[in-house]
Amino acid sequence: MEKISLVVPCFNEQEVIEIFHKEILKVQKDMNNVEFEIIFVNDGSSDKTLELMRKLSSNKNVRYISFSRNFGKEAAMYAGLKASTGDYVAIMDADLQDPPALLQEMYEILQTGEYDSVATRRVSRKGEPVIRSFFAKMYYKIINKISKTEITDGARDFRLMTRKMVNSVLELTEYNRFSKGIFSWVGYRTKWLSYENIERAAGTTKWSFFKLFLYSLESIVAFSTLPLSIASIMGILFCFIAFILIALIVVRTLIFGDPTSGWPSMVCIMFFIGGVQLLCTGIIGQYLSKTYLEVKKRPIYIVAETEEDLKNK
Ligand code: UDP
Ligand code: MG
Repeated sequence: MEKISLVVPCFNEQEVIEIFHKEILKVQKDMNNVEFEIIFVNDGSSDKTLELMRKLSSNKNVRYISFSRNFGKEAAMYAGLKASTGDYVAIMDADLQDPPALLQEMYEILQTGEYDSVATRRVSRKGEPVIRSFFAKMYYKIINKISKTEITDGARDFRLMTRKMVNSVLELTEYNRFSKGIFSWVGYRTKWLSYENIERAAGTTKWSFFKLFLYSLESIVAFSTLPLSIASIMGILFCFIAFILIALIVVRTLIFGDPTSGWPSMVCIMFFIGGVQLLCTGIIGQYLSKTYLEVKKRPIYIVAETEEDLKNK
């Protein structure tokens, strides 16, 4: 019998984790030709999430991994994929925004052997603040212009993958992880399913606007080096302009002498060039800081407890 592993990152999800488990049991009943394995990853929750996981792990095929602190959803997904043992692995949010009912369809598509992964994207952003939607749209436009790796607009992390693809994803052990890019980068054949945005079953979103903004910057640094090229191009452009100006000023001085004037324009130019220089240094700093973190080779997450520990107690 084939096995499907479900990786579920959870950060303060006490309101939904049990509802989620119930929904999966329902799906399991309809798909009795496959075995399920649920891996809850507790990403340093401060509420009762861990207690509920311990309780749920008494059920057959329910496992959990608990981090020593909050490492972020990316780390949680990586830990879950690493721990998974199924022939197929799905990543799902705990809040039921990823409809479990789709699993059957996804599984059937993979069974045909035509695809290695079935991914989902939402076609509408209904129920989301207007400003957030606007920035999200802008972000996808920009990242797809400047990165060779395609990042699909509205793509969710919810997808079912074959073992082969999961192993490839695990081979990318980078510290600054951006899964939407990684899934696309490893290649393979992906089928996209679309659905309308579904609101959270309960609880609140764990992503503030600022957190999302930082995440988007991270993804740009991770999957594009264009900002670095822009910095170099700007440098060349300004050198070129400077050469022309020097020539003009020398000629003008030779012809008209040297009356002291042009102080305001001089200050403007200094401010402008200074700003450009700082911007370029900042861009280099972004890449340097990411490189610094990669070079340190710190672990992506630290496990404090798993269901094995509970059993051995
Ligand atoms: N999540 C996580 N660590 C974090 C933030 C979020 O594991 O630091 C999990 C969260 O518990 C949920 C999933 O990631 O299962 C998606 O988060 P959320 O639903 O808050 O995001 P949204 O759907 O609003 O984008
Ligand atoms: Mg959600």
